[in-house]
Amino acid sequence: MYKHSKLDFDLLLEAIDRLESVFAVYDKDFSLIYANESARQAWPDFYNGLAKGQSHFEAMRNEIRTQFPDLPDDQIDQFTEFSLGVVRPGGKGELSTRNGRTYQTHHEKLGTVGTVGIGVDLTDLKAHQKRLKELAQLNHLLANNDELTGLSNRRHFVAQIDQLVEQSEGTKAPFTLGLLDLDGFKRVNDVYGHPVGDDLLKEVGQRMSQILDDDDILARLGGDEFGFVTTRATTESEIHDLSSELVERLADPYLLQSDQVHVSASIGVATFPDAATDRALLLKRADYALYHSKHNASGSPVVFSTHHEERISRQAKLNLAFREADWDKELYLEFQPIFDLQSGQIRAVEALARWHSEKLGLVRPDQFIAIAEHSGLITQVSQVLFRKALNAMQSWPEHVRLSFNLSPYEIASDGHAETLMAQIDNAGTNPKRVVFELTESAMIQDTQLVSNVLQSFKRRGIRIALDDFGSGYSSLSHLAKMPIDIVKIDRSFLSDLTRKKRNHALLNGIVQLCRDMSLLTVLEGVETDFHMRMVRETELDLVQGYLFSRPLGETCIRELLLDADQAGLWNNAQAASA
Ligand code: C2E
Ligand code: CA
Ligand code: CA
Repeated sequence: MYKHSKLDFDLLLEAIDRLESVFAVYDKDFSLIYANESARQAWPDFYNGLAKGQSHFEAMRNEIRTQFPDLPDDQIDQFTEFSLGVVRPGGKGELSTRNGRTYQTHHEKLGTVGTVGIGVDLTDLKAHQKRLKELAQLNHLLANNDELTGLSNRRHFVAQIDQLVEQSEGTKAPFTLGLLDLDGFKRVNDVYGHPVGDDLLKEVGQRMSQILDDDDILARLGGDEFGFVTTRATTESEIHDLSSELVERLADPYLLQSDQVHVSASIGVATFPDAATDRALLLKRADYALYHSKHNASGSPVVFSTHHEERISRQAKLNLAFREADWDKELYLEFQPIFDLQSGQIRAVEALARWHSEKLGLVRPDQFIAIAEHSGLITQVSQVLFRKALNAMQSWPEHVRLSFNLSPYEIASDGHAETLMAQIDNAGTNPKRVVFELTESAMIQDTQLVSNVLQSFKRRGIRIALDDFGSGYSSLSHLAKMPIDIVKIDRSFLSDLTRKKRNHALLNGIVQLCRDMSLLTVLEGVETDFHMRMVRETELDLVQGYLFSRPLGETCIRELLLDADQAGLWNNAQAASA
């Protein structure tokens, strides 16, 4: 203990009186000698009573009665006994005051001379701890719940699947994982605004939880994607019934802020342990099934099956084979002539990629081009093909152009456009003899970027053809901003004979529009005499298709182009359709 010789007793008492903590001193008989201000304020009846000579019991009883005026006598007595158990030499515990504060008190013997009682105010600390606890709970809630719908979020969903997988490890007790995606949600957001979109998501969550069992897991995984896990439906027919119920219920109209709104849902399902025995793969396979539900099954629920398994492994094999292939050797081109409808002359030749894999044989171009696109190899592949195409055209007559397909992935790729132009220069080819074919999806990505790239082609004299026109959601108005020279009309206009009249009218309309915009038109996929008769009724510029020629090998196309009577093919086709 530190004590200066100048310490004055009254000064010390004054200081102790001002302490926030409760402080009281008793003599050896436990009679009160001193109680500071905090003590008298905390329990006035008790300390004042003691000071007036009341017994501990009496004083405490008065204190308790004031604090709990409605308590019956016997309980007041019990409470008094309890409190006195704390307030005694050697006693320890928490006591509350009439104004709702809580003190941690202890009464310690000072040798044989007396007892000191000290109480520390824990009220703020306790409140703080309580708030901390609430905060932790809120945090847990936020970390695991989707704020909008109140369902689990992706993180919690994943953790719950992990738990289930772990539990089912030994038993292999089956469960079903479903992923659900809304179709048409974006439109609702665009048309009715985000508040309606939010309400829609909430109601989707509610409808789903009404159908699923209480102990099933249901989560919103982000955007308009939901996930569920159930042990109730694990056989194919059970899953089918449950999924159909969900799909039907979600397709019912929604009345949101006085708007009636419609959406539909696609569902992909994978079962544990059949489809996969670990969480990541299970999710991946459900996702694969969802993709198929959306793209190949027009929304009806898809359950991941061995059939998908085979597709995936074939895809993986193709992927690997393509990566390992000697492209220079295994990739080659076929060439299909494009004819002028007026003169019957070959104006251009479209180069079409072919892959004869050493391991897998002939692979369809849409398949390996997709692999190249998704693996980021497309620019390299395209450069190999373009070199071969430029090389082949060296022996063609000057007036015949090369029409070369570019993938949407290429057009936005840094520096690739420059490489292609350098390839033209290196081959000593006049850029005016080159046409790049691009689909609409290439043109609607980053419009400014694409427009810049296309302009740089155009400045060199290269022409741009819009490929597969009419197969997507074509909008001539926004395409009008793109520097296009040629429109290649998709063959679906010819093949879909069930809508003959409509297609014919559309075809004529497109051709007229293109003429107005000074765009050349090519019709693809002219296969039959019937097609040719249809073509004759239009003002198309160019035609391409099996009726005139299938894609030909390099030698064949050269011979055809160099043939003095190259219109032979054309004339035959004309004669047949006349
Ligand atoms: P595409 O650019 O629309 O090519 C036209 C497709 O129609 C070719 O299929 C061609 O063989 C086929 N075709 C031509 N005339 C007819 C006909 O009268 N009837 C029918 N039914 N089909 C006809 P192919 O060669 O299988 O190519 C498929 C697609 O693969 C191409 O469609 C193109 O998108 C892509 N592709 C081909 N080569 C390349 C390439 O070098 N680079 C890129 N990025 N894509 C390519
Ligand atoms: Ca093409
Ligand atoms: Ca095409």
